[in-house]
Formats: sequence, C-alpha cells, structure tokens
Amino acid sequence: MNKDEVKWVDYDMLHVTPPQSAPDFIKQSPLANAAGWVDVDKHSLRHVKYSNVWSIGDAAGLPTSKTGAAIRKQTPAVVANMLAAMANRPLPADYNRYTSCPLMRLWQAGARGIRLQQQP
Ligand SMILES: Cc1cc2nc3c(=O)[nH]c(=O)nc-3n(C[C@H](O)[C@H](O)[C@H](O)COP(=O)(O)OP(=O)(O)OC[C@H]3O[C@@H](n4cnc5c(N)ncnc54)[C@H](O)[C@@H]3O)c2cc1C
Repeated sequence: MNKDEVKWVDYDMLHVTPPQSAPDFIKQSPLANAAGWVDVDKHSLRHVKYSNVWSIGDAAGLPTSKTGAAIRKQTPAVVANMLAAMANRPLPADYNRYTSCPLMRLWQAGARGIRLQQQP
C-alpha cells in the first residue's frame, strides 16, 4: 500500500505506529549507528566512539522501547556516569533497559467524568 491509497478496515481496537527515526541532523552525522540512532553503549549511555558524547531518550540507540518512562531511568544513570567521567572515576551506573508503556482503557464513564484504568 502506498501513501496515496485509501483503505478502510473494521476494528475493535486499533494501534497505529508510524515509522520512527532520529532527527536528520543525527541520522546524517558521525554520531549515528547504522540504523540512524545515536551510537551509545547500552549500559553506560556513553557514545561508543566519542567519549564526551552521551545520549538518552528517543534518539539514543538503545535496545528498549522509546518512552518517557525509559528516560526516567536513563536520566539518573547518565548523570551518575557523566559526573564520574568528569572526576576520572569508573562509571558506576548501568541503565537496566527499563521501559514501560501503559495502555489506558475506559473503565467507567459517569457524571463526574471518565475514569481510566492503567493496564500492564
Ligand atoms: C503520541 C505519543 C504518546 C506517548 N505516550 C507516552 C506515555 O504515555 N508514556 C511514556 O512514557 N512515553 C510516551 N511517549 C513517548 C515519549 O513522549 C517520548 O519517549 C519522549 O518524549 C522522548 O523524549 P526526548 O526528549 O528523547 O525526545 P523529544 O520529546 O522528541 O524531544 C526532542 C526535542 O528536540 C527538538 N528538536 C528536533 N530537532 C531539532 C533541531 N534540529 N534543533 C533543535 N531542536 C530540535 C524537538 O522539537 C523536541 O522538542 C509518547 C509519545 C507519543 C508520540
């Protein structure tokens, strides 16, 4: 199917994921790995070639789902490792690849509004 085609489908629940990529200025730079993400070590979050470069978040080439929840765990790890690197100490933190993406479903619609229940 190409982008100009229109197709109708019946569904009960639809989960659409558009193509994802890092921004062009990363994809087209020496910072990127073959897939276009910032080429970081998955433990330390330090760039594999440039020791003064660190990356977290959606642009980072990490084997985990790209979520804010993942960033919440990446942030303390990268801060601890950057501080250690600046003090010439061994890197203490290992990002454990934690991520999470809760799905919300309609649980109860009432006069006071809609309540949502988090599903694992
Ligand atoms: C619809 C949707 C729902 C989501 N829901 C959840 C959720 O429920 N829970 C969860 O944990 N995660 C969720 N996420 C994922 C979460 O939003 C992302 O993982 C997170 O925002 C990534 O943060 P980031 O800082 O790495 O990148 P971004 O938030 O994308 O920030 C990158 C920033 O860089 C800027 N930028 C880009 N190019 C340039 C440039 N050339 N110069 C300067 N600035 C530039 C952009 O404008 C942007 O502000 C959701 C994402 C989407 C799209």
